[in-house]
Amino acid sequence: MNGQKQSSARVTAGVSFAARLSFEDIGHSYASGAETLRGVSLAAEPGEVLCLLGPSGSGKTTLLRIAAGIETQRAGRVLLNDRVIAGPGVFLPPEQRSIGLVFQDFALFPHLTILDNVRFGLTALSPQEARHEAMIALERVGLEAYAGAYPHVLSGGEQQRVALARALAPRPAVLLMDEPFSGLDSRLKDTVRAETLDILRQSRATAIVVTHDAEEAMRMGDRIALLKDGRLVQAGTAEDLYQSPADLFVAGFFSELNEFPGKVSGGAVETPLGRFAARGLADGQEVTVAVRLSGFLVNQQAGAIPARVVSRRFLGVVEHLELAVPGADRHVRARVRCGHLAPRVRDIWIDIVPSDVLVFARR
Ligand code: ADP
Ligand code: MG
Repeated sequence: MNGQKQSSARVTAGVSFAARLSFEDIGHSYASGAETLRGVSLAAEPGEVLCLLGPSGSGKTTLLRIAAGIETQRAGRVLLNDRVIAGPGVFLPPEQRSIGLVFQDFALFPHLTILDNVRFGLTALSPQEARHEAMIALERVGLEAYAGAYPHVLSGGEQQRVALARALAPRPAVLLMDEPFSGLDSRLKDTVRAETLDILRQSRATAIVVTHDAEEAMRMGDRIALLKDGRLVQAGTAEDLYQSPADLFVAGFFSELNEFPGKVSGGAVETPLGRFAARGLADGQEVTVAVRLSGFLVNQQAGAIPARVVSRRFLGVVEHLELAVPGADRHVRARVRCGHLAPRVRDIWIDIVPSDVLVFARR
């Protein structure tokens, strides 16, 4: 075979036809009773990587299982492009949905070769066709040389890529991945994440990637959808969610915060760290003022607010400070560049960066 050319033609042939996957007003509860999902409406656009983010138990896995057809919703519809695949009176079986799923533990069969693991789901094809398609999928993840080997010879990251190849082999229009990197150690994670993103881009499949890690969602997602207690709290780009969080929960999910209670008066709120504008909130409204740890400028000579350094922890590029500030009933936490303060300094001044202050109505 004339290797190079042949192989690039093959890889192009493995491209999926991207589709739009949409959820309309999904409600779900398990037999045990409590509601798992409530009124979730959300769409992954063709070719986009949508990260589904939320704390443990927020309903992320359940939503993926509904899309894949291994769980049935109580209310609402799931559509692939304009076709209802699950809804009142409609239930397309999983194998007819063109939706691939990579499970959290991405378990490979230890007694099957890498090729047979990837070929496993291609039951509709002849053995030769299945082998051909499985090889294309393995080439896509760069592991064709291991086709005849068994899973145990591969690293965790490579096994993860085999699981990805297995899910991509049937050329799904949509690929769902449930916390695909949670089993990898943190040093491997960055590389595998970047590789996975490359492969998703090349395969052009629409993807929904579940994670409970906001930084991972920001690294991977074209957009992010944040779930809490079975409800969609906010969906948008990483910038949208970080800079304009819908509520204190969203803000706290993306950055560590100092929180101060307050009340709007004359369009602003008084806090121990200063007076901050309360845009769009009426006078008399009870609020929480949230100040990101990154929002502190520290100085030994002058500044807006006096503070005393209570503790310092060196973290490499930055250091973590605990500060006593007049009027604050708890220590204020800040993260500043290392080397900015002299080694044993006690009394300092702080200024607050306005873009790191968020004001939310208290309900
Ligand atoms: P996540 O993936 O965000 O951690 P899940 O979708 O797994 O959340 O779970 C959502 C809620 O449903 C949780 O409260 C969980 O305990 C519950 N749950 C998950 N699976 C089942 C099940 N098979 N039977 C009953 N309750 C379940
Ligand atoms: Mg889960």
